[in-house]
Amino acid sequence: MIYLDNNATTAIDPQVADVIHAEMLRGPANPSSQHAIGRGCSDRLDEAIQRIGACIGSDLSVPGGARLITTSGGTESNNLALAGLGKPDAPLVVSSIEHASVIGFAQQAQKQGRRVHFLPVTAGGVVRVDALRETLTDLAGQQAVVSVMSANNETGVVQPIVDVAEVCHAAGALLHVDATQSIGKLPATIADLPAAAITLTPHKFHGPAGVGALWIDAGIKLRPLLFGGEQQLVTRPGTEPVALVIGMAKALEIAVENQSASCQQMVSQRDQFETTLRRECAGLLIHGENETRLPGTSCVSFAGTDRQSMLMALDFAGVACSSGSACSSGSSPPSHVLLAMGCPEWAVGSAIRFSLSRFSTEEEIVESARRICRVYNRLRS
Ligand code: PLP
Repeated sequence: MIYLDNNATTAIDPQVADVIHAEMLRGPANPSSQHAIGRGCSDRLDEAIQRIGACIGSDLSVPGGARLITTSGGTESNNLALAGLGKPDAPLVVSSIEHASVIGFAQQAQKQGRRVHFLPVTAGGVVRVDALRETLTDLAGQQAVVSVMSANNETGVVQPIVDVAEVCHAAGALLHVDATQSIGKLPATIADLPAAAITLTPHKFHGPAGVGALWIDAGIKLRPLLFGGEQQLVTRPGTEPVALVIGMAKALEIAVENQSASCQQMVSQRDQFETTLRRECAGLLIHGENETRLPGTSCVSFAGTDRQSMLMALDFAGVACSSGSACSSGSSPPSHVLLAMGCPEWAVGSAIRFSLSRFSTEEEIVESARRICRVYNRLRS
């Protein structure tokens, strides 16, 4: 089986698994306990958090400064940011291509009476900064909360976060960036992502699932989503999963250290993959191909097929990939991202996402492209 579904999740790096394993075997680990065992654990947790901060260029040791809140993953971090930033009834502005954890929150908030705006995107899948500017002008004086992802999980299209941030700052809006897909693949310092809050999720960069983080800038207040504990200054109560946080730090250090080399490797493999597909298969549409994309993401519509048949045939042929929207595979509704880009019905109905990682090999790319072309040409005929 060739694994080309790395935007859904990645294989854990064995070095990260070793670190988590060793920490888990150290014994009981509740960093809030007041005894020596608990204090030791708390020190290791703090150290891991400082190391994560160092990776994203943020000093987290300054009292009252920027903070990193650990969560159960990207979904929780996104919900916490949208629920906790700004005033509870602040208008919410989210792009129409956000992950379900942002869109779902926004739809729920809208049902409960909160003012919500969905930003349009271009045909290439880029959030329209002009529309954001207009929306924030209409909302002048209301300190809106804006959420725009750094890169889209389906198309890989990288979003103009620096421009988005500039517009938000000028309008006095608070910006949250879901950097789940770009951290570990693109440079990911606070200078690259100038926001009030940033979501990160290590299972997308060869770290553990079940843990994530929300970075919060100095001076930014955040209301909790959960209640009933003193942990993390009451912002996110619950016993911290120390081993997983240490694993997150290790995975991020490895990702940052290898970012430039793995980016080059994935770009070259993805280009080779797309060149083969184009040469061997007629009627392909590669989404966002003229935009800046994540190095290893290729979202392709295969004319004359439907995504479910293609997925099943590829699974049978030993290629693991997903249909557009599936992070939470299993079901396959039409992609809201491709719909927002104005893609024709056939393209929405036949879109498959292939996503590489730094563990993808040259042989896998050659072989998977061969299998995909064979499956497609057979299904089409
Ligand atoms: N945001 C984006 C852009 C994603 O791709 C995902 C992935 O599934 C999430 C958020 C949710 O992350 P998690 O699965 O850790 O909850």
